[in-house]
Amino acid sequence: FEEISPQFKSQLQSSLHQHFGHNSFREGQLQIIHSVLQNRDACAFWATGAGKSLTYQLPPLHLNQVGVIITPLVSLMMDQVAKLNARGIAATYLGSAQRDGSVEGRVFSGEYRLVYVTPEKLVGGTFLERLSRMHDGGGRGRVCIFAVDESHCVSEWGHDFRPEFLKIGSAIREQKSNLASVPILALTATAVPRVQDDILRNLHMKLENTTIVKKSFDRPNLKIEIKRKPKNGALAALAVVVKELFNAEGRDTAKSTIVYCATRKEVDDVTREMVASLAHMLSDNRNMPFDRAHTIASQRIKPYHAGLSTREEAHLSFLVGKTPVIVATVAFGMGIDKPDIRRVVHWGPPKTVEEYYQQMGRASRDGLPGEAIMYCDLPDFAKYKNEFYLKSLKGDARKATIESMDALREFCMSDDCCRRGSLMRFFDEEPSFGKWCGTCDICLFREVNGEELERDFAFDGARVLLAAVVLCNGQAWSTIESVVAGKAVDSYRYSPRSDDEIMQLRKFIANELTRMKKKRSSTYLKELIDPLVSKGLLAREIKQLNNKYKSSFVIYKTVSSKTASAFSK
Ligand code: ADP
Ligand code: ZN
Repeated sequence: FEEISPQFKSQLQSSLHQHFGHNSFREGQLQIIHSVLQNRDACAFWATGAGKSLTYQLPPLHLNQVGVIITPLVSLMMDQVAKLNARGIAATYLGSAQRDGSVEGRVFSGEYRLVYVTPEKLVGGTFLERLSRMHDGGGRGRVCIFAVDESHCVSEWGHDFRPEFLKIGSAIREQKSNLASVPILALTATAVPRVQDDILRNLHMKLENTTIVKKSFDRPNLKIEIKRKPKNGALAALAVVVKELFNAEGRDTAKSTIVYCATRKEVDDVTREMVASLAHMLSDNRNMPFDRAHTIASQRIKPYHAGLSTREEAHLSFLVGKTPVIVATVAFGMGIDKPDIRRVVHWGPPKTVEEYYQQMGRASRDGLPGEAIMYCDLPDFAKYKNEFYLKSLKGDARKATIESMDALREFCMSDDCCRRGSLMRFFDEEPSFGKWCGTCDICLFREVNGEELERDFAFDGARVLLAAVVLCNGQAWSTIESVVAGKAVDSYRYSPRSDDEIMQLRKFIANELTRMKKKRSSTYLKELIDPLVSKGLLAREIKQLNNKYKSSFVIYKTVSSKTASAFSK
């Protein structure tokens, strides 16, 4: 990257604070914004929730010029515009849904800093031409950025190819005005490498001079679980969700949840069952007439699909938290701007890995912990592979879709691959955590069942080692060694700790040792120390121990200095 001067940086930071109230940039944001301000094209290939919107919202505000954002979804535009307006930022959208006829004129008189448009609006009619007149007129009417959100739609390899996206790049570049050189910023949260290539090419980006910032597509805050469908149906699977709604007295404690179903009929059926179940709970336990209980229940769980006239109301009610659970088809999604959705449940799989990744990715975009749970069986995957779903797809798009369908089946049906790792590898990324993430259902199962695997072994071993260090506080390494070897767990009491703590430590060490010895020979000590030192796992294990014993940060300090000196010998 080109160096960003400290002065420039601090100017941008104060803009950031002034317009959005944030104190610092997230990783990558500054590079993208800097690039745009230097008149260079840019790409942000970042996971959902990474903070892409800010990269196109800030430059126009900073320069007091105009940003044009092209996005396929009107609902998304409306959400974003409403949020920006609430911050006092002049933003609007244009498209078939815009009912206010005066907006367009006001756009061209430079009244808005941010203008959201559909690709149809951008390339059709006289939009760009009028925009260029305003641009060359200068001042507040200068356009400083074209941002193409959901830019994977430009690729036939992508999971949501939209032909009108193909016209965006040429329409901008072929303007006979200075508008043609306005930087284009492409953003997406779902793009395998060949889709990324397509984005650059199809949007006519200036290749050698484009700033590309890729960030990991990993979503470490999401706990991924894939389960088989219970025999007695969706309600059995979703009983916890209903129970939670029942327990949550106020609206704040219920987890915001999307339940995805494959068809409208399924949406209707699942909603009906869940509502009835909640209504029964309410009327039985709260001594409420069933009718009234049913009315309340239908406020808490609502259906959403294209065939329902009530869908916008359901969407709104979900956004404000009045309806914590929404049961929906894929129609509910791309435009939902709610960062605190805590759980996405799939009742049956979506079609492709990309679709799955996008949908589950709607959980916890604010970075707090969230869950993604899918229920599926093998036959669910066969049903998508027919002409009904594939007929409109030709050539590369068809091939890519079938590949991704197969990959999703593999992903769901395997029971020995870390889910997070598999997803990342699908996007051609090597996970930094190695083979096991430690948070998905597969990884957790392995931990609970203590399978004979390297990571578990080193992990358990490390905890024993550290517990021993704590127990033998102040003792020579050889003493620690004999405790770890299981020779003398009971006889050491040199640690200035309470009896309780020492009991706990002893019990912990003894139990772990028994467990480990079942798995491995007694030569484990040497084996476990090496990876500990070389991979710097120690700090993490210490933290674990710390959590387990909750005694105080003293543990941390003691253990770190002890182990550090022990290992340096
Ligand atoms: P994306 O478009 O990549 O899915 P968003 O732009 O919606 O992500 O950002 C996700 C959340 O992160 C939003 O709630 C946003 O306000 C917040 N956010 C973005 N940038 C910053 C920042 N620099 N500091 C603090 N919060 C930020
Ligand atoms: Zn995992």
